[in-house]
Amino acid sequence: MVDVKSKALNQTISVDRIIWKINSKITGPTVIFIGGMHGNETAGVFALKHVYKNIQKDKVKGNIYAISGNLSALKQNQRFIHSDLNRMWTYELLKNLETKTSLSAEEEEQVVLYELLKNIINDHSGPFYFIDLHTTSSQSLPFITINDALINRNFSRQFPVPIVLGIEEYLEGPLLSYINTLGYVCLGFESGQHDDINAVTNGISFVNLALVATASIDKNDIDDLLSHYQQLNQNTKHLDEVFEVTHLYRIYNGEDFKMRPNFSSFQKIKKGTILAESDGRDVAAPDSARLFMPLYQNRGKEGFFIIKRIAPFFMGLSSLLRRWRLDNLLVLFPGISWDDKEKGVLKVNLKITRFFAKQLFHLFGYRNKQVDSTHLRLYNRERVSKIDSYKELPWFKGRISMN
Ligand SMILES: [Zn+2]
Repeated sequence: MVDVKSKALNQTISVDRIIWKINSKITGPTVIFIGGMHGNETAGVFALKHVYKNIQKDKVKGNIYAISGNLSALKQNQRFIHSDLNRMWTYELLKNLETKTSLSAEEEEQVVLYELLKNIINDHSGPFYFIDLHTTSSQSLPFITINDALINRNFSRQFPVPIVLGIEEYLEGPLLSYINTLGYVCLGFESGQHDDINAVTNGISFVNLALVATASIDKNDIDDLLSHYQQLNQNTKHLDEVFEVTHLYRIYNGEDFKMRPNFSSFQKIKKGTILAESDGRDVAAPDSARLFMPLYQNRGKEGFFIIKRIAPFFMGLSSLLRRWRLDNLLVLFPGISWDDKEKGVLKVNLKITRFFAKQLFHLFGYRNKQVDSTHLRLYNRERVSKIDSYKELPWFKGRISMN
């Protein structure tokens, strides 16, 4: 057991790796909530603990797990001890872990988490849902981050909060991206600023709505479902649109980076606005758009992101292109070939990408990750997704009623 403190609530609770779980005899989905992948983000852990008290256990269908992420960092109320546990979920690092003899604090956490997640997936049948609860160092509306696959998009639309997609192009090794390569629905929910009491309240509301959206619990068996919906709706100022990450300011090792004060996530900014200082020089906004996750803590490699709204027309168009698998036609163009068709990996000559804007590949569900001197490898989020286990569910076809 580890003691976890909430500064916002001025309260301490004791938690284990499995904060709680419910295994029902009634058939249903398996929903896995994770809180505290970052040890200074305790709101998710407190929200999960709170929700358990009010669940009518005999009404649950399927399985629910509430898991804590970085236990040793949670104990210290630090983002991490040695390295960021939410940047370690690449195949290479997971493979290395098998043969390593001496493990860092986070590697030890990862071994246990990895085993636990594998066991849950082996022990149960789907549909599976993974929900990773976080908070931000800046002021922020609550929001969802997802890897850009239709199953994630459609599931995320059930919640009255903004959705930010495409972060996988900029971050290496978040847990979300790893789960997505397994093909399951996975979303990150950022409930607010680390030590803001609202981050706990928003977390509680989100978990309740998620239990209904996944059909773990019938909406009539949750107290005050409407108030949870309204809580999020009000806190997001009704900004339930879809955004795409278009820029990341990456902090290099040893850089002295400092955001200018009082910026918040989703704030509109004009091109040229001075956002931060780097080694004594001004850092200006590269675009007129919205600022996203400005860094107001010592630890972290991402200074700030820029996001832009995706118009509903393009959301609809890309959904059609993907369902019809029209990406099969892309390889007819010179310079574009399959690197691995089954896994949905395209190899694109870098010269070609100048003509084919990145946005076009995005429409088809490709997000780039790897570059060598001549080629770009683009990974499709659709071809690996286990869409068949979700496509007949009510949420896949539209918005389900939450009131
Ligand atoms: Zn986090």
